[in-house]
Amino acid sequence: MGVGIVTGAPKLTHPSFVRPSLFAFDWQFSVWAGWALILYSVLHLSGGDLRAMGPGLAMITFVVVIGELRPVVMSHTFGNPVSISSAFIFAVLYLWGLAPAILLQALTVIISELLQRKQLWRLVFNVGQYCVSIAAAASVLIIVGVHPSPIEPMSGLSGRDLPWILGSWVVYHVVNLALVAGLSRTARQTWWESFSEDFWFYTFSTFAVLALSPLVVLVEMASDGSWGLLPLLLLPLLAVHKTAQMSREQEHSSLHDVLTDLPNRTLLARRTKAAIEDDRRKAATDEATGVALLLLDLDRFKEVNDTLGHPVGDDLLRVVAHRLSAAVRPGDVVARLGGDEFGILLPGVGSPAAAAEVAERLRLTLAEPFRMSGVLVDLDSSVGVAVYPEHGRAFEELLRKADVAMYAAKAADDGTQIYDPTSDPNSEERLGAVTALREAIAAHQLELHYQPKTSLPGGDVVGVEALVRWRHPERGLVPPDEFIPLAERTGLINTLTDEVLDLALRQAHEWWTTGLRIPVAVNVSMRDLQRPDFARRLMARLDHYDVVAGALMLEVTESILGAEPTIAVATLRELSAVGVRCSLDDFGTGYSSLVRLERLPVVELKIDRSFVRQLDDPRADPSMVRSVIGLAHGLDLLVVAEGVETDVAHVWLTRLGCDVVQGWYIARAMPGPVATQWLRKRCALPAPGGDEAHPGPTLYAVGEASV
Ligand code: C2E
Ligand code: CA
Ligand code: CA
Repeated sequence: MGVGIVTGAPKLTHPSFVRPSLFAFDWQFSVWAGWALILYSVLHLSGGDLRAMGPGLAMITFVVVIGELRPVVMSHTFGNPVSISSAFIFAVLYLWGLAPAILLQALTVIISELLQRKQLWRLVFNVGQYCVSIAAAASVLIIVGVHPSPIEPMSGLSGRDLPWILGSWVVYHVVNLALVAGLSRTARQTWWESFSEDFWFYTFSTFAVLALSPLVVLVEMASDGSWGLLPLLLLPLLAVHKTAQMSREQEHSSLHDVLTDLPNRTLLARRTKAAIEDDRRKAATDEATGVALLLLDLDRFKEVNDTLGHPVGDDLLRVVAHRLSAAVRPGDVVARLGGDEFGILLPGVGSPAAAAEVAERLRLTLAEPFRMSGVLVDLDSSVGVAVYPEHGRAFEELLRKADVAMYAAKAADDGTQIYDPTSDPNSEERLGAVTALREAIAAHQLELHYQPKTSLPGGDVVGVEALVRWRHPERGLVPPDEFIPLAERTGLINTLTDEVLDLALRQAHEWWTTGLRIPVAVNVSMRDLQRPDFARRLMARLDHYDVVAGALMLEVTESILGAEPTIAVATLRELSAVGVRCSLDDFGTGYSSLVRLERLPVVELKIDRSFVRQLDDPRADPSMVRSVIGLAHGLDLLVVAEGVETDVAHVWLTRLGCDVVQGWYIARAMPGPVATQWLRKRCALPAPGGDEAHPGPTLYAVGEASV
C-alpha cells in the first residue's frame, strides 16, 4: 500500500540545503500551519465525535496503517511517491470533515517516516506539508457549502458532487507539489522547474488514487458499521499496489545497469545536470564549487574476458562497481556507461587538481588484486577528468572531454589526466593555439638562442646548440616547452623545423665565413625524420646557405630507438653519409634498446640533465653516469653531459672521463649577437676582418666532408 511522504526530495539530505528562503511557500510555513491544524483538530474532536464515526473510522484507519507497514513507492527519482492512503484520507474528509482527515493524515505520515527512519526534521516538514494540502482541499468543500462532520456525516454522493470532488483533488495536488517544490528548489532546480516536472509526473497517478476515494465513501456508507464489504476495497487497492511496484521496477531498470545495478548513463546525465544547475545557482552567492566528471576505463579488461571467460568478467565488473561505490562520498554518483567504462560524478569537487586526487584514489582501490575463481587478477585503469565550468557547461560536453582526457591518459600510460584542450584535436583552444603558432612561424616570430658545448678537460668550444624561442608580441619570450609539444602533436613541427633550420644555417654561414668554425646543433623531431624527402631538402638548404655539412649537427631524441623507425634511421644514414652528424639527445629518459644504439649513425650521446643533476653532490654515487660513459665510449661515441650547473658536477664529469659539457655553469643559451661575442672572446678571435681563423673544434673531424 501507499505512503504519503516525500521520500524522494532526497537531495534534501544535502547539508547545505536547509536554508530559509523568502519564498511564499516557505518550508517553515508548512511546518507551522500544518502543526497548528493538528492542534486544532485534536481540540476540535470530542469523544462523542469519535464514537459517532465508530467502526467506519476504525476500519479505514486499520487499512491505512496496514498499508503503511508495507509501503510502495512509485518512483525512486521523483519527489513524492503517490500515496494510496490519500484515497482513504479523502474519504474521511468527505464523510466527516477536516479534523479527522488531518489526524489520519498526520498518523499516516508519522508511521511511514518512522518506518523509513527518516531524519526528524523531514518528519516534521512532511507532516506539516500534507496537513496543509488536505486543509486546502477542504476549503473547496467549504466554498461549495458542503460541511460534513462526525455528528452529521455525508449522507450520499451523486453526479452533481463531481465538480467539487474534482476541484478538491486539483487544489490538493497543486498545493502539495508547490510546498515540496518550494523546499527542493534550493537543492535542485528553480521552484518553477521543480514544480512543473513533478506536476506532470504525478498528476495522473495521484488522480488515479484519489478516484478511489468516492468508492471508499460509498463502501463505508453501505457497510453501515460492518466490515463485510472490506474486500471490495482491497482488490482495487491491491491492483494499484502492484501497478505501482511494476512501474517503480520499470523506472529502476530504465535508469540502472542490469549487471552491476549502478546508475546508467541516463541517470548519470540527469544527476550531472542537477549538480550543474545547483552549482550555477550557488554561483550567485559565491558558494559555487564546481562539478567534476570522471571517466574510468579498465585497462586490459578484454584479456580477463578472453582468458577467464565472460562469467568471470561479469563478476569482476560487479566487484569493481562495488569497490568504486565504496570509495566515493555519499553525494557522489558512480555509474556504469557500458563495457568496462565507468562514469563518476563528483558534485562540489571544484578544482581539477582535487578531482584528479579522487581519481588517483579510485585507481588505487582498483590496483589491489582481485581474487576471481581462485586466480589473482591485476587490473589497471585510466581516468580522464573534466570539470564544470572550466571544461564544459553540459553533461555531454563534459563526458566527451573526460573521454579525450581518458584516452590521453591511456596513451601516456600515466593513469589520470585532466582534460587539456591543446591535446584535444577538436577543441577551439587547440585550433586557436595551432593557428597562432602557424602565424607566428610565418611572421618570423621564432628566434634561436645558442648554448655552447665545451670540451673536458680543456674547455675548448666544440659546438653550440640552437634552442628555439617564440618572441610573442604580448607574452614576451615563450620557452619551447610551451609550444614544441603542441607542434609535434599537430604536425606543425615540420614547418617549425624548416624555419629553425633556416635561422640556424644563416647563423652558421655568418660564423663560418668570419672564422668561427663551430658546428651548430639543431633539434629535430621524429616526425621530421620520417618525412621521406627530409634529407634531400636539408642538403638543398645547406647549398642555399652555402654551409658545409660539417657545420650542422642534428639532435634526435631517444624515441628513435623505440619502435622500428626505419624511415627515420634511413634519413639519418643518408645525412651522415654526406657529413651531417647526429647526436642522441636526452639519453636515459626513455627505455632505449642499447642493441639498436649500435646500428644508429650517431657520433655522440647526450646524458640527460636528470642524471647530471645527481652529480651536484660531492658524495654522489656516480656509477650510473660512469656506466653510460663506459657504454658510449665502447661504441665509439662522444659523451656530452647536459645541464651542468655546478662546479661540483663539472669536477665529477672531468673525473669520470666525460668528453663535453653543456650547461649554465659554462653559459646560458644566448641570442645570436650575444653568442657571437661570447664565442669570439672564448676562442680569442679578433672581430671580423682579422685574418686569424678559429682552428675549429678538434673533437669532431670538421670541414672535410662537404655538400
Ligand atoms: P633539450 O634539447 O634537452 O635542450 C636543453 C634544454 O636544457 C634547453 O631548454 C636549455 O636551455 C636547458 N638547459 C641548458 N643548460 C641548463 C642547465 O644548466 N640547467 C638547466 N636547468 N637547464 C639547462 P630549452 O631551451 O627550454 O629547451 C627545452 C627543450 O625544447 C629542448 O630540450 C628541446 O627538446 C626542445 N627544443 C628547443 N629548441 C628546439 C627546436 O628548435 N626544435 C625542436 N624540435 N625542439 C626544440
Ligand atoms: Ca637538444
Ligand atoms: Ca637534451
